[in-house]
Amino acid sequence: MGDSASPSAADLNKLFCPSQTAAGGTAARAEPVPQDAWSVLMAYHSQQHCWPTPVSGRQARTPRAVSDLGAILGEAEAILTDAFGVLNVGESALPGAPEALQAVRQRGCALRVVSNAASQPKAALVARYRAMGFDLTAAEFITSRDVTLQALAEAPAHWRWVIIAPGQADLSDLPIAHGRRWDGALHDGDDAVLFLAAWGWQASDQEALEAGLRASPRPVWVANPDLISPWGDAWRPEPGGWCTGLQERTGATVLRFGKPLGSIFELALASLPGAVERARVWMLGDTLHTDILGAQAVGLRTAWITGAGASTGLDVARAVACTGIVPDVVMPFIGPVAVC
Ligand SMILES: [Mg+2]
Repeated sequence: MGDSASPSAADLNKLFCPSQTAAGGTAARAEPVPQDAWSVLMAYHSQQHCWPTPVSGRQARTPRAVSDLGAILGEAEAILTDAFGVLNVGESALPGAPEALQAVRQRGCALRVVSNAASQPKAALVARYRAMGFDLTAAEFITSRDVTLQALAEAPAHWRWVIIAPGQADLSDLPIAHGRRWDGALHDGDDAVLFLAAWGWQASDQEALEAGLRASPRPVWVANPDLISPWGDAWRPEPGGWCTGLQERTGATVLRFGKPLGSIFELALASLPGAVERARVWMLGDTLHTDILGAQAVGLRTAWITGAGASTGLDVARAVACTGIVPDVVMPFIGPVAVC
């Protein structure tokens, strides 16, 4: 699917929804799924019923094009930033990104990384970013795992959780009394499912999960609402992608935690020192439907990063017109900061 045409609903169903077979099961699909940025944008757009409504009255605006983060620091008391596609791609820092965060500190702005990274406990995530050259602390990371942990702590204590995560994943921070890892099927006595990370998750696993949910619907909590993420030369479905349409197909109640839902932004704002005016808090992100839409819904200003990550190569004007999501500014990369 190229930039010249929007994907059809059938294309998107093939991307994210296992198709029904004649036998009533679900057909396997190949993964990872090679896609381009426009197709991914349209995939998010097709799920807009799951996301906050774009802020009205912005559609007539045009985002201001700026060169780097320095252009907005004079208007900011705090900077919230996405991680992947803004700070790094894979295990490599984007050029100028660590220095740009230093410029934020030198301005006296508070800094938070607001990420849908749910697969690792906080300490491992911090170590990963410090290894890439970012001088960040645990207190500066607010993740969808944090929001999920908060919700888990409030869940019925007797629930037995089935946890979907890679075999080597560290689950030691989960505040649950009863749980087990996914073993290929749902069983009697399993009360709820926690979809933490999709690495290693196969179409056959999804088929088995959906069969179990259809037989006995139970809550499914999704710790990363992202649909898909770039991985090398291909795109890999994330938990939110696998669970697209899951509620409609199975009758299970699906709850999502993380961007663009408001609770992760509220947690980040609550962590800032002192009272901060929301109109002077900026969110930086490369995904319109998570970073930009979610931040605008809670009253923040937004900078869309288009030089790396999910939006690389997108026609900015067309994407804004199509989605109705209008960031305040657009910049290719956050650094190097030319003006500070
Ligand atoms: Mg991103």
